[in-house]
Amino acid sequence: MPFASYEIDGRSYLGRVEGDSLVPLAGASELGRQTPSDVLGELAAAGPAVAVSDVHLRAVVPQPDKIICVGLNYKAHIGETGRETPEYPVLFNKFASSLVGAFDPISVPSESTQCDYEGELAVVIGRAGRRIAKRDAIAHVMGFSVANDVTMRDYQYKTHQWLQGKAWDASTPIGPYLYTPEEVDVTSAGLRTILNGSTMQDSDTSLMIFDIPTLISTISEFTTLLPGDVILTGTPGGVGFRRDPKVFLKPGDEVSIEIDGLGAVRNRVIAEAR
Ligand code: ZN
Repeated sequence: MPFASYEIDGRSYLGRVEGDSLVPLAGASELGRQTPSDVLGELAAAGPAVAVSDVHLRAVVPQPDKIICVGLNYKAHIGETGRETPEYPVLFNKFASSLVGAFDPISVPSESTQCDYEGELAVVIGRAGRRIAKRDAIAHVMGFSVANDVTMRDYQYKTHQWLQGKAWDASTPIGPYLYTPEEVDVTSAGLRTILNGSTMQDSDTSLMIFDIPTLISTISEFTTLLPGDVILTGTPGGVGFRRDPKVFLKPGDEVSIEIDGLGAVRNRVIAEAR
């Protein structure tokens, strides 16, 4: 069964998803550092089920220690950016404050005129490790989810560091649920981005240049991966910034990212209230 982080009347819960219901679990109030894989599978029910429609789904991991993102990890996306195929993954980061729930609105900041979508597979770490070998990597995974690596292109390219375009507060939907590696095989899963009913990205996770074991191995070479850490694995071709004419998210839009077997994040775009 998949898992979710959610809240009711401002109170946080970790739940197991059963159909259209959530069963709250004892011992943790969200997915993350407190729920390594060996603990997660053992948590007992803490109360009666609630309907998914009666809760607010939070970012599936609301407060990760680290969010490491991969740029240029699909050939078709590299082609549209006009760059060379990298020999080492391009890595950057977001903050916990960058994340929002799967169905929360995406706010276009007043400073940016180039808010763009990037549909991505999210990997959540379930067992700590440093210098993890590729062959051991999947044993370190708590599960998989869906994310939109929303990017302010004008800020991404202000300098050669992408941080300021990638780490806006409350910009990055992730969810709705976490599926364990026992439940889903994401080595080949369709990934689509739909904007106002039109398919903008249509690819497959099998087309990643650096696969999940390679990413976990490469990242853990320099930093200890902890339970709850999130890796965003990069986006395929079709981003708005590289289309002709360019397409950017604007208030009133609805954008969704769907991955076969993992569900979808679906978000209304609004103007940021300041
Ligand atoms: Zn991305």
